Amino acid sequence: SYRKGGYHAVRIGDSFAAGRYIAQRKLGWGHFSTVWLAYDTQSSKYVALKIQKSAEHFAQAALHEIEVLLSITNGDPSNSKCVVRLIDHFKHSGPNGQHLCMVLEFLGDSLLRLIRFRRYKGIELNKVREICKCVLIALDYLHRELGIIHTDLKPENILLLSTINPAKDPIRSALTPILKRPEASGLNGRSMSMVEKRLKSRARRASIGGEAEAPKLAKSMDGINLRCKVVDFGNACWADKPFADEIQTRQYRAPEVILGSGYSFPADMWSFACTAFELATGDMMFAPKGGKGFSEDEDHLALMMELLGKMPKKIAIGGARSKDYFDRHGDLKRIRRLKFRPLDRFLVDKYKFFENDAREFVGFLCPILDFAPEKRPTAQQCLQHPWLNVKSSHQKEMNVQSNVKVGMANLKIN
Ligand code: ATP
Ligand code: MG
Ligand code: MG
Repeated sequence: SYRKGGYHAVRIGDSFAAGRYIAQRKLGWGHFSTVWLAYDTQSSKYVALKIQKSAEHFAQAALHEIEVLLSITNGDPSNSKCVVRLIDHFKHSGPNGQHLCMVLEFLGDSLLRLIRFRRYKGIELNKVREICKCVLIALDYLHRELGIIHTDLKPENILLLSTINPAKDPIRSALTPILKRPEASGLNGRSMSMVEKRLKSRARRASIGGEAEAPKLAKSMDGINLRCKVVDFGNACWADKPFADEIQTRQYRAPEVILGSGYSFPADMWSFACTAFELATGDMMFAPKGGKGFSEDEDHLALMMELLGKMPKKIAIGGARSKDYFDRHGDLKRIRRLKFRPLDRFLVDKYKFFENDAREFVGFLCPILDFAPEKRPTAQQCLQHPWLNVKSSHQKEMNVQSNVKVGMANLKIN
């Protein structure tokens, strides 16, 4: 991909936008871009620099993403809507062509990394609640105020405002090599001393936390107010101008998308519910696989019905692609026997939830997983749900034992 039309090769210390941004370390990459931690010499802050592949098709996609990000950032001057902010954008010419670049606020680890960090055992319900509130604030803003559908909501596209593991902190690991070779950093004397100061304070903080093993750090995260933001607006669209039939990453895809029944904001709500389940259990809610005589789509529909009950016939046969999956009675053509297991039993039996926790969580989730998109609650309605404002019984017991002040953390989320 590092050829004409593809990614731009970056070396640490490379400068962008006439010297304003200096590349520090690679943060990640995707189909369209590489993303770099960069130092903004103008604001003396770290930023995330997303450098798009150069071919025409990628440039078009970047222009669209910039347009969406601009309306998102401009509509949220107080920075309270839990969505990533666009700081700047420009073009950068390199050996592989001209690359559109987006300068985004620098965020921390994705929820996918948080799930992995917890070794797929699931995140404590009180933290799931906090994350859900942030994501719902973002969705309410996108849907109600801007008319934007994200179309690719999933743990990977929700980033924490902090890093989980200080030993892997990108700022620290970026600075270590730079300090060893200051001449290669491309930083002037003034920025160097800034950088050094930051490194020292980071190092101090890390030594308080200690470069401990993962489980220890996970424990030290207890009581931290987990804040996060929604990112990756490359596939987002305005609801009145949808441009793709097939949206969303497989496991988070709504039934109406599979059935070809048209989609809108409720498709994001479906992905949200799948994400909340995954945070709480560590497992994807639906992980369909094709098999002998049935497709991935059919397995997906079967898995949905096994957990959520039979799909009403009207919905099952109402989509442009319904005939591929359902007979005229509304039964799956190729998967005849379903193993129904109600969601709350599933949480108790498989994931060892307390009965109360399971009932309350399912009370929150199930309405969002309605097969009829128009019956799903909106993000605004979800924000009013009592589940977001109670403490799990498990937590209540812990509080009685150790008198931890988790409740305060809950109250502070907007
Ligand atoms: P995709 O194929 O997922 O559409 P993409 O090329 O559009 O990829 P992004 O998903 O926006 O790229 O970013 C790629 C990765 O870079 C993310 O998964 C994340 O790890 C990292 N990243 C993106 N934005 C930020 C940010 N603001 N702060 C920190 N890291 C970021
Ligand atoms: Mg992405
Ligand atoms: Mg993208």
